[in-house]
Amino acid sequence: MINVLKFGGTSLSNSKNILLVSKIIIKKFKKKKIAVVLSAPANITNILEKSIELAIQKKNYKKEIQKIHEKFYKIVEEISLTNENFLLKKVKSKINQEMKFLQKMLKSIYFLNKCPKKIFAIIVSKGEILSTKIMENILISKNYNTFIINPIKNLISNGDALDSYVNIHDSKKNIKKLNIVKKSIILMPGFIGGNYKKELVLLGRNGSDYSAAVLSACLKAKSCEIWTDVDGILTCDPKIVPNAKIISNISYNQIINLSNLGAKVLHPKTISPLKKLNIPCYVKNTFNESKRGTKIVKNSKQKKNKNYSSITYIKNICSFSIKSKNTKKINKVYKKILNKLKNQKIYFFSSIKTINQKYINLYIEKKYYKKIKYILKKKIFKQENYKKKIKTKKKLSIISLIHSKNSQKNKLSNHIQKFLNRYKIKIINVISNQSKNIISFIINSKNTNKTIKLLHKILLNKVKTIEIFLLGIGGIGKTLLKQISQEKRNLKKRNLALKIFLIANSKKILFNKKSIKIESWKKEFLNNGKTYPQQEELIKKISKIIKKNNYINPVIIDCTSSKAISKQYFNYIKNRYHVITSNKKFNTGNLKNYKKIRKLACKMNKKFLYETNVGGGLPIIQTIKNFVKTGDKISYFKGILSGSLSFIFGKLEEGMLFSEAIQQAHQKGFTEPDPREDLSGLDVARKLLIIAREIGHSLELQDIQIQKILPKKINKKNNVNEFFQEIKKFDEYFLNQIDSAKKNEKKIKFIGTINQNGICKIKLSKINKNDPLYNVKDGENALSFYSKYYQPIPLVIKGYGAGKEVTASGVFSDLLNTI
Ligand code: ASP
Repeated sequence: MINVLKFGGTSLSNSKNILLVSKIIIKKFKKKKIAVVLSAPANITNILEKSIELAIQKKNYKKEIQKIHEKFYKIVEEISLTNENFLLKKVKSKINQEMKFLQKMLKSIYFLNKCPKKIFAIIVSKGEILSTKIMENILISKNYNTFIINPIKNLISNGDALDSYVNIHDSKKNIKKLNIVKKSIILMPGFIGGNYKKELVLLGRNGSDYSAAVLSACLKAKSCEIWTDVDGILTCDPKIVPNAKIISNISYNQIINLSNLGAKVLHPKTISPLKKLNIPCYVKNTFNESKRGTKIVKNSKQKKNKNYSSITYIKNICSFSIKSKNTKKINKVYKKILNKLKNQKIYFFSSIKTINQKYINLYIEKKYYKKIKYILKKKIFKQENYKKKIKTKKKLSIISLIHSKNSQKNKLSNHIQKFLNRYKIKIINVISNQSKNIISFIINSKNTNKTIKLLHKILLNKVKTIEIFLLGIGGIGKTLLKQISQEKRNLKKRNLALKIFLIANSKKILFNKKSIKIESWKKEFLNNGKTYPQQEELIKKISKIIKKNNYINPVIIDCTSSKAISKQYFNYIKNRYHVITSNKKFNTGNLKNYKKIRKLACKMNKKFLYETNVGGGLPIIQTIKNFVKTGDKISYFKGILSGSLSFIFGKLEEGMLFSEAIQQAHQKGFTEPDPREDLSGLDVARKLLIIAREIGHSLELQDIQIQKILPKKINKKNNVNEFFQEIKKFDEYFLNQIDSAKKNEKKIKFIGTINQNGICKIKLSKINKNDPLYNVKDGENALSFYSKYYQPIPLVIKGYGAGKEVTASGVFSDLLNTI
């Protein structure tokens, strides 16, 4: 089986490149049979066309021919310098002969003032003729046999003399009859065909690709390789998106769509013969030979995560918007217009607005504007009706996204609209061709490049966005911002874009539509934050800001301890924000709301995450959820849930006095500002309640039974310093407690338990040696879950359960779970 290779103009633009091509040809030929189709060196066809135009206009065309002459001379002279076997004289004489012919033809055109198509075709084809001649001689000079297929005699073509179509059936017969010398490299000039009178015709501009496809079909080639100057077909125009990616696999149909929608890739005409015979086509880079390139086949295998193949655009679109009150009538008019356009061979993008079925919107390339206007005015509407019913717009662009079958179209379209809205890009209309997996957006031309860049970024580069609205910038909030800022580079590497739009504390809001620079948020907050002395007002303002949700993946993070803010969660989720909270107020509020918010989040497809409600950054909530999900049942829970009390009782074990231990915990920032809150057990009760609810027990905070730590009441009215004095009276009591426990090889810990029936208790307990909680100290939390599968040894999660760093990292991890 044979392989067909085609080299384009840039691959043959100078002697160095031509020699490189010859090396590729020889290398390939050593492995398999090949046929090579060659273009003219870059720009030669344009100059030839220009010389004809100049001659018709009676202008100086000779200069152009001179340019071509010099160019070919330079090429062959340089080749001969590297290769003494190259028959320079012979090739030069062929060049001279062709140039003489051109001069003669152009002279006649000059006198005639016109150029018949036949002559035009002959002149313009000379670039291909000469590049083939040069390649033939290079190969001969290197002792390779060559066989030239003459396309005029063999590629039977019909249609326009400058844009003909090849009849594969007839051409195949011709080629079969050729006595191709065995072990020879087949060469054929591209761009050229011959009509039934065996006269030279052209196959259309950029027609060498088509020549290669046609030859592949005639030879039933194994593959057709199009060698060019890029690594393959790109996801987008590299002039707009420099980091556009190479598409590794694409289907014939997608290529056809791409080129119909403006991409400068292979012409549909080229694809058709290959598609019919299912011949795979590769687009490869002459200058980067080792790259695999793009493979075009019948059904391209898209990788799962590569749902979108490419973005194309056509600038200079105009629209005709036709109004009518009557749906039936409008459909009739629409059909009539379609027929008229079809007859005139006008390619258009159309859409009927589905909202009220009272509009037809036609989107057409601007070059057809006058023609369409004429058709509508004269053939379909009367003069005055035209004015009344038709509105036109110019300076539009159509941007199309060609994607694979498995993406969800509506979701995708909404997603894009929302995204573009945010960047103030108005979408005039959306046209969705479901069967072809194309979504097109009509926008104002001035936004074309910006839109393409944005779409490429989110869809093809797969940048995942999280838009952050942070409430509370105390220890946790501030640390979170620091952690995000530190991770910025790594996040970028992982294609994650975390952007902050709002930061608020209890008095001030900083909102920046374009996003807040994370490195300088403090300064911005100070200088540009707006003050709201009343909390109510502040909350209202936040609600107002978030109501205008045109974000892709917005998240509200509550790092406050405010009940009022927690009451807003319903509102936030209803407005389509994820909610992440380290604030325990909501989850320990009434059970009805606890259940309701989960239902709402599910309905809105939003996340409600609160990993840091229990055990700081320790993975407690997700572990319980996994128990529930996998059908395991937690039969008993026992845990040390307070970092401060864990620290205090650890110190008691080491011999410290109770009052001293509390003071030290306070100094180290382990306790609440007023340590009485820790000692009350309320914070532990809240965590225990959340764990119990996650397990599935329907409880309220008052159901948690707290056994007081202190044996006697203390004065609540004392200030903290007075409290430290007062607490001394318990030192002895705790010394005794610890001692008596030690005698039995036990330790005293403040623990929370949940039994099978959901009875929750918090108390000081004597823990024996075998218990996983026995060695917990220094502010650690430890949680042991006994379940159907985890028994008699429980699943234990242990580690620092408080502190701004670990808690902020827990919030951070929730944040990344919103994607
Ligand atoms: N040389 C011709 C052109 O520039 C054909 C080709 O290169 O494909 O259109």
